[in-house]
Amino acid sequence: MTPSDRDRYSRQILFAGVGEQGQQCLLDARVAVAGCGALGSFQAGALARAGVGFLRIIDRDYVELSNLQRQWLFDECDVEQGMPKAAAAARKIAGINSGVRVEPAVADLTPSNVEDLLGGVDLILDGTDNFETRYLINDFAVERGVPWVYGAAVGSYGIAMPVIPGKTSCLRCIYPDPPPGAQPTCETAGVLGSVTALIASWQVSEAIKILCGAQPTRKMTTVDVWTGDIRQVAQPGPVADCPACGRREFPYLAGERRAPVSLCGQNAVQIHERTRPLELRDLAARLAPLGPVRANEFALRFEVPPYLLTIFPDGRAIIKGTTDVGIARSLYARYIGA
Ligand SMILES: [Zn+2]
Repeated sequence: MTPSDRDRYSRQILFAGVGEQGQQCLLDARVAVAGCGALGSFQAGALARAGVGFLRIIDRDYVELSNLQRQWLFDECDVEQGMPKAAAAARKIAGINSGVRVEPAVADLTPSNVEDLLGGVDLILDGTDNFETRYLINDFAVERGVPWVYGAAVGSYGIAMPVIPGKTSCLRCIYPDPPPGAQPTCETAGVLGSVTALIASWQVSEAIKILCGAQPTRKMTTVDVWTGDIRQVAQPGPVADCPACGRREFPYLAGERRAPVSLCGQNAVQIHERTRPLELRDLAARLAPLGPVRANEFALRFEVPPYLLTIFPDGRAIIKGTTDVGIARSLYARYIGA
């Protein structure tokens, strides 16, 4: 550690839980931030300030004006320049802490690139906005024995839980399968910036403990910043018959549980969800404030220019206006919840 490092991180080193040894662990650490929206941008900035030596920042989206209310690393300049979030985050972090090596990846995290994007790191932080990607992260992390920290926030509510493969329960120990039906998303239910910062901050604290060799919180923590309620449930050890921890089955990693996607027509992508029965009229009511929507019992049509989403009761969707699979998945995750 250089004298400049000792000065920069002096307050963190003074904290007994970290100390000089813990700080050295952070400087040597490699972390992947999966998703750089509200949670991920806070995580990436906080880890850079804490001195984590290497950050791989993965995100498929571009910075939009409606992100700035809660996505801490971004500003109006990023919106004007149409910056990808991963690249905008890397640029911002270079100014926060030039000692951190940042590898931005403008990509949709999928079974085919998960090895490249999540490989070779000591810890993975969940900054995603959908269950499909979280289950992929869980499969990868459990299979490789890499710790990860789950986190999610919508409305005024958030949840966080560290996963140490082999020591704690994993996401599938607790939720063997993703929740069925359409899920509330930040696009349909809104979100307070404060709850995203709180959850991301909790995840970062767990990450720092794990990287320093300290004990993470063995609890699942849920908070609601509007009602002021905080709940914690003890986190068990690995569950014997968990498909991931116990039976070592990794269908998300193999791509078997991924909603297949196909190009469809000139300028459209089809997402064929397997078993996601949707109540189209309920979904229409949720989407109505966001743009023109029409629904009957057979299909729902929702316009978000330049895109047109047609959604069917079995969960299938056709997204017109793009041939980019990543954009199609992103729209599906935002408006239907995946
Ligand atoms: Zn498990």
